[in-house]
Amino acid sequence: MSSFNHRIARLNGIDRGWRGAFGETCRHGRNRKRNPDGCGKPVEFVVMYDYVTGRAGRVTDSQRGKCREHAEQFAKKHDCPMPAGT
Ligand SMILES: [Zn+2]
Repeated sequence: MSSFNHRIARLNGIDRGWRGAFGETCRHGRNRKRNPDGCGKPVEFVVMYDYVTGRAGRVTDSQRGKCREHAEQFAKKHDCPMPAGT
């Protein structure tokens, strides 16, 4: 998979509230058999990236909720900055 344009946004209190209300937690490391819920910590950030799908070369963007720890890991891995003030 080729992905690019990695970026991170911080959720405000309202976004965290509704995501929490829908039971969204960090799914980092999720594995269907061994770890079905993944990390399970509350979501504080959204990480986003674009990727090319299929042979037609369409660009799709993906967004995932992450806890602080895994947002920071994403920042390091993809060499993109954490949002200001975090
Ligand atoms: Zn996490």
